[in-house]
Amino acid sequence: MSELPDIDQFRKEARVWLEQNAEPLPEINEAEEEDQEVVWGEGSDNVAIFHNFTDEEELARLNAVKAWQAKKFDAGYAMINWPEELGGRGLSASYVRAYMAEERKFVVPSAGELPPTSMGLIAPTVAAFGTPEQKDRWCKAIMRMDICGCQLFSEPSAGSDLASLTTRAVRDGDEWVLNGQKVWTSGARFSEWGLAITRSDFDVPKHKGLTAFMVPFDCKGVEVRPIKQMSGGANFNEVFFTDARIPDEYRLGPVGEGWRVALTCLGFERDHSSSSSSSHTGGSFKQVVAAAAWAGVLEDPIIRQEIAALYSMLRTAQYTNRRVAAGMRAGQTPGPEGSLGKLMWTAGMTKTGEVIARVLGAKVVVDGGEWGTYAWSEHILGAPGYRIAGGSDEIQRNIIGERVLGLPAEPRVDKDLPFSEAQRQTRKA
Ligand SMILES: Cc1cc2nc3c(=O)[nH]c(=O)nc-3n(C[C@H](O)[C@H](O)[C@H](O)COP(=O)(O)OP(=O)(O)OC[C@H]3O[C@@H](n4cnc5c(N)ncnc54)[C@H](O)[C@@H]3O)c2cc1C
Repeated sequence: MSELPDIDQFRKEARVWLEQNAEPLPEINEAEEEDQEVVWGEGSDNVAIFHNFTDEEELARLNAVKAWQAKKFDAGYAMINWPEELGGRGLSASYVRAYMAEERKFVVPSAGELPPTSMGLIAPTVAAFGTPEQKDRWCKAIMRMDICGCQLFSEPSAGSDLASLTTRAVRDGDEWVLNGQKVWTSGARFSEWGLAITRSDFDVPKHKGLTAFMVPFDCKGVEVRPIKQMSGGANFNEVFFTDARIPDEYRLGPVGEGWRVALTCLGFERDHSSSSSSSHTGGSFKQVVAAAAWAGVLEDPIIRQEIAALYSMLRTAQYTNRRVAAGMRAGQTPGPEGSLGKLMWTAGMTKTGEVIARVLGAKVVVDGGEWGTYAWSEHILGAPGYRIAGGSDEIQRNIIGERVLGLPAEPRVDKDLPFSEAQRQTRKA
């Protein structure tokens, strides 16, 4: 194996490359960022959790990310810790962190959920289960963002209990015929591929009859329909399969091993959700305080109490995240703290919405044109989404209950029954 580059030298080179290719952000360290005051009425008042872009705007944002990612890939910074045989540099995660520490100081384009899903969940799952030809076909192309992949897992009757999914895959010679429906597929309208978990055998217990496929969206019989959100945008989609024929060479992993593929992908998602929980999604504590000052309610004892409770909640979440991050830097694999981090993140986001609703009252439901008021409706309406995405609050609590507190596991009566029998029993009940 070739000698590892010196990490400080690697970081310096990354910085030089970033300086040549991106605009630097004003230098602010974390302590200074915390000290920065929100000046009422200045700058953008956007506190949306999910954005409300048109498809044209969405595509323009995505294309900007694609252009940036291609540049980054060509310079050797897109697959730093990927194995060399897959096109990576074969370096450890500490080099990725060193690069990211530098990249965070620059303005780089972003476009919501699809790029992190595609590169953070789909590509490594292909790397984990793909044949050499499949890895060759998809990994580099996804990591350069020449193509995007989304996650075709959830169905109308299978979300938390994903193993109950019923999209059917029937083998026909060298092809598989897919019929069924997926739902809540983030980014499907802008993806070329989707990783679908399907049921190929109804006569074995539910976790054992699943098979995974990479499905091309240009395949006949695959139809994508946007879902309009209550906050206005349409980040999600329904995806219908009607006699969609997929060659066997697009099957990812062995027949009947789809659950392992799904769990691996969800493992990447959990790591991603808990690490992104440190990012600023929606409105911040400082913005709540600024709104309370503007509304003249900072001296109201109930509001003060609420603001203090919000502060301690957000601080505790921040320290928990830092503890997880420190553990990861020290080489620990993330454990159930990921669930705790996610739960605290969504709780903080929800509480922020509750406190601002108290502070601003009717102004969050009626657009009176005032800066920093009605804009909060997009935080309030978006927060419930993250309480569900990536494993709902209740599911995180189950994980903490079972794996941290050692409470008895939930009864899983259908675990060993053939899926078709379990379905019959559910219908009878
Ligand atoms: C923002 C967002 C993005 C998403 N993106 C994608 C995507 O790209 N691809 C994809 O496949 N899916 C996606 N999803 C779907 C997501 O994975 C599911 O919504 C989630 O798994 C929950 O499933 P469900 O909606 O069917 O709810 P259900 O599982 O039906 O749950 C309904 C309620 O019951 C509770 N509940 C369920 N089981 C238990 C239990 N055992 N114990 C206690 N309470 C329980 C839940 O917490 C919830 O409150 C996304 C969802 C959101 C909100």
